[in-house]
Amino acid sequence: MMCLRRLAGTTFLSLAIGFFAPLHAEVAEPLLIIHHVRIFDGRHPTLSPDSAVVISGNHILSIKPETGSAVADDPATRSINGGGRVLLPGLIDAHVHLSIVVGVPQLRDYDPGYLFARAGVEARATLLRGFTTVRDMAGPTFGLKQAIDEGLMEGPRIFPSGAMISQTSGHADFRQRIDTPQRRWSGRIEGLERLGYGLIADGVDEVTAGVREQLRLGATQIKLAAGGGVSSVYDPIDSVQYSDAELRAAVQAASDFGTYVAVHAYTPTAIRRAIDAGVRSIEHAQLIDEPTLKEAVARGVYLSPQAFLFAADSPVTPLQTVAQRAKAKVVAEGLDQMMQLAQKYHAKVAFGTDLVGAPQMFAGESREFGARLRWFSSAEILSQATAINGDLLALSGSRNLYGRLGVVEVGALADLLIVDGNPLEDIRVLETPESTLRVIVKDGRVVKQSL
Ligand SMILES: [Zn+2]
Repeated sequence: MMCLRRLAGTTFLSLAIGFFAPLHAEVAEPLLIIHHVRIFDGRHPTLSPDSAVVISGNHILSIKPETGSAVADDPATRSINGGGRVLLPGLIDAHVHLSIVVGVPQLRDYDPGYLFARAGVEARATLLRGFTTVRDMAGPTFGLKQAIDEGLMEGPRIFPSGAMISQTSGHADFRQRIDTPQRRWSGRIEGLERLGYGLIADGVDEVTAGVREQLRLGATQIKLAAGGGVSSVYDPIDSVQYSDAELRAAVQAASDFGTYVAVHAYTPTAIRRAIDAGVRSIEHAQLIDEPTLKEAVARGVYLSPQAFLFAADSPVTPLQTVAQRAKAKVVAEGLDQMMQLAQKYHAKVAFGTDLVGAPQMFAGESREFGARLRWFSSAEILSQATAINGDLLALSGSRNLYGRLGVVEVGALADLLIVDGNPLEDIRVLETPESTLRVIVKDGRVVKQSL
């Protein structure tokens, strides 16, 4: 009875909102037709002939050859004339941290409300660069995701991981040196852990609970630190983090909720242990060797490296300690071999940027395209940022509440871009989105239109 009443109330509310605010209605919406575009579908390195894409609500209803006839002036139909330009799926960034808006050590110096407001600004800028979806790989973005999903703010769809789960002295042990040595021994939980940037968990029971805590908050996938990091203070780059049993416990808890674990890891030992435990996505992976990469390929594991972060002209803020700078050097030197191996063995390479800490860093997101040209063709890079990343997001199973992403196909979500130039010939047309991205459609709604 109570259920019925609640259902009836919800329906009435939806209809009322639909009546007054058609953009967020659940009632039938007018069709949006995009005419005269050549389509890159996300998977095939070719463009379609002159075509029209019909969008109903938030998904693609049909794709058909352009007839050439003028659009009927049906008041229930809106249309955009692409003028023969290229239409592609909305871009996906598989490794962001929208809530790390200042350097990690400085996060403690600001009011959390200020940090989250800044995250909202970065979310809007991300969307206007053409990234209609992001996978957030550590940090408190559940509220931001909700506000964007509710239409209160402009931003990409967010697949949040919540806090990065780390062992004591692991990559997400954000404690300062003077903090209580071990929080369980009468210490307080450190500030960044309280805010949800990281979570320290040791042993099978704590790791299991830590994973379940993130799932409880709405994580669509789980992020663990499985090996040494560059920016972290207490872990050598060659340190292997988490035992087999701990990793398997995390994978079990995630898969019990229908989703998967991604790990931060650089070295072959850390990556191999994670793959053996059932981890599906390796973040960074720069120091991987040939046998381990072949194993990752054989098991369909995604590699999620970054190129622009290590480029000479990347605006990365200088690292503080000699040890951190030494670690950065090792990892940067590994990038070339890793990418060559990934190219040689056709690894599933995700497109992710991992740029954090300042507006000029976030603004470098589009530079990842050109930075990959050293190893991949424009068409390969474009697939990484669309269909391949879409397949990676699909590993979240039914924790993905949105639908099919990264492709232009009937039934897929209507996240679409119209761009000047041909990104299959030169991916760098996507590096100046302010001028070259002429139309951005997210969830069937026109976010930008400058045609
Ligand atoms: Zn990261």
